Order: sequence, then C-alpha cells, then structure tokens
Amino acid sequence: MFETLTKAPGDKILALMGEFAADSRPTKIDLGVGVYKDEKGVTPVMSAVRKAEERMLSSEKTKTYLGIAGNKGYGEAVLELVLGDSVARDRVRIAQAPGGTGSLWVLMQLVNRARPGATVHVSAPTWANHNPIALNSGLEVATYPYFDPTTRGVKFEQMLAAIDRLGPGDVVLLHGCCHNPTGANLSEAQWDQVAASLARTGALPFIDLAYLGFGDGIEADIYGTRKILSSVPETLIAFSGSKNFGLYRERVGAAILVARNAGEAETAYSQLLNIIRGAYSQPPDHGAEIIRTILTDPALRAEWEDELATMRNRMISLRKKLSDAIRERSNSTDFDFVADHRGMFSLLGLSTEAVDRLKAGDGVYMTGDSRINVAGIPEDRVGDLAEAFLTAIG
Ligand code: PLP
Repeated sequence: MFETLTKAPGDKILALMGEFAADSRPTKIDLGVGVYKDEKGVTPVMSAVRKAEERMLSSEKTKTYLGIAGNKGYGEAVLELVLGDSVARDRVRIAQAPGGTGSLWVLMQLVNRARPGATVHVSAPTWANHNPIALNSGLEVATYPYFDPTTRGVKFEQMLAAIDRLGPGDVVLLHGCCHNPTGANLSEAQWDQVAASLARTGALPFIDLAYLGFGDGIEADIYGTRKILSSVPETLIAFSGSKNFGLYRERVGAAILVARNAGEAETAYSQLLNIIRGAYSQPPDHGAEIIRTILTDPALRAEWEDELATMRNRMISLRKKLSDAIRERSNSTDFDFVADHRGMFSLLGLSTEAVDRLKAGDGVYMTGDSRINVAGIPEDRVGDLAEAFLTAIG
C-alpha cells in the first residue's frame, strides 16, 4: 500500500522548535512558536482554569457521550461571548469542535457541501493552515491584498477593492482580530467598510476568531465580527479557546453558523452535524466544560478576564519596549509598527537572509517569514534584541 506515497513536507514550526531545542547557547531567544508565554517563559495554566477543573473533578457525575454538537452550555456561553445582540438567535447555530482548527475544518466542509469547489479568499499572507484546510475540503483558494511590507500596516484600499469585486458564492476569510502572522489589523471604520462591502456583494464572510481578548480587549476585539453579523444575512465563525483560555492541548473551539432565517439555519446545521458525525463523531468535553464553568460563574469569569487582561497588557508593553529600544538605538521610527500591531504576532518584513543571520548569529528564532511572537520577548533582554535586529537588517 504505502509504496505509492512520497514524503509529505514537515511542519515548519515544529522543525523550528526542534532547532531551538538543539541550540545550546544559553542566550537563545524563542520568538517562533505561537503560544503565549509569561515573563518566566512558561505557557501557564490560568488560575480560573485550574479552579474550574477542581470543581469539575468533584462535581462530574458521568463521562457518557455528549452528542454531536458537544457541550450545550458551552455553546450557549460562547454565543453570548461572541454575538452580543448583533443577530437574532434563531438564525444562529453552534457546534463545539476540536480547537479553532477543527472548527475551520467542519465549516469548510459545510461550505463545500453548499457550494462545491467554491473559492475561499484569504488575506496575503494568512495563517499557514488556512490553505490546506480549504484545499483538503475541496475548495479553491485565492488571496486578497492585506499586508503592506513598507508600512507594515494593512493595504486597506487594495483589500477593499478586491473584496468589492467578489460576489455570492465567494467566501472571504477574515481574521476577527489579532491577525496572524502580521499583527496588522483593521480599524473600526475599516471594519464598517468591509461589512458594507460584503452586504453589497453577497460574498460570504468566514471569520477566524482565534485570539479574542488578545488585542485591545474582548469588546474591542469583537467589534468587526459583530459589525459583520449585523450587516449581512449569512456568516461563518470558527472560534478557538486555545489562546484566550490557554487550553491549547484540550482542543476546544466552536463552529458557528448564521443563516438568513431559522429554517435555513436548521438545514445547514443538520449538514454540519452530519459532517461531524462522519468525521470524529463528537468533540472531547474537558476544555468545553472548563470554558462553560468559567463563563457562567461571575467570580470565575471576572478572574479569567483579569488574567486575560494581564496577558494582553504584557504583550502590549513588550511591543512598546521593543519599538522604544530600537528607536533609541537607531534614531528611526521604522520599527514603531511593532507597538501599533496587536495580538501575539508582528511580521517584521525582514529578508530570509536577515532571519537566518539572527538565528545563526544571535540565537534569535522566528519563523522564516520574519514573524515574531511578542510574548516570547524576554523583558530583561529587550536591548539585546533591539541590537540584534538592527545588526541583522544592517
Ligand atoms: N486560526 C489562527 C489564525 C491561528 O493562529 C490558530 C492557531 O495558531 C488557529 C486558528 C487554531 O488554533 P487551535 O486549533 O489550536 O484552536
């Protein structure tokens, strides 16, 4: 059987993690892998999560099957978090899914059932897993302009012009907030224009919401999603609880669909559940029950929001420290964009050679496209890092 196969390409991030682990220099810095790290370089279990788990341990009565849509209370709590009052609930359905990735997967499968071979338009660049998930679901992928390597902001006019040219049957994949890999995001006024464009053309928005709360706060980060929800008849949302609840390995996310009316929502949902049943049958409960417990208990929810704010503020402060340190040393505002970006990442716009020099010369690791994870910046070595960047770009 297997002699017909050729070797699949390895995962670049995992390879980078391996290289970092093998580097014996004590001064090495990991800005590669996309997980939040605290000031000790640890990806912590959030205290609200630990407390929820303690409660679950003593209160859980059964581990029998949950059903295809997963934990119902979790679904309700996620909808409350994401939707606000942007859309009538009878048009909305939610299914818990394994992480943001699993949510993207089942929703792409749904798109392919509705419109076989439809084109998913993704930002240039986008998260490396969007293309394979779309292609493996039978869909086509095209890109729309997004990142401007000169300003390191969004090429908004070109983006909007490209989206304006789409029509019904096209899918537009948008990062709800905290764009990965660039860190460059839309302003509220720009979201308004995107929502108006989608309402005009009838293209379907598909929102990847993997970093809610990592940018400027939950309310600010959800602005674009809610604006779109209140502007267009149909939307898909892939929610992830991996980053904002620190539940990476629990694989908790949610596939949300919004249809024109309750009847179409029910029909589309039956297809979504059918896709899930034929793939992994039902999602794992543990992470979902943690999130349900936190979001439905006022004290735990407040504690989680505080912890999330601490993580977010740490990343914002590291951004500012790095751009200040570079400005002090270079007398240039060229790296100020790092402070303007939001979320866990910034795309620096460095050449591959510069990325290689940083790794070989200074032990500074980032992905080959020059994306840094700002949470990996060691607070006491911001100056060293600034020097290394300036030397690398020459
Ligand atoms: N979408 C984006 C943009 C991401 O960066 C990630 C994770 O890195 C995900 C979705 C999926 O995350 P997970 O499947 O771990 O929840």
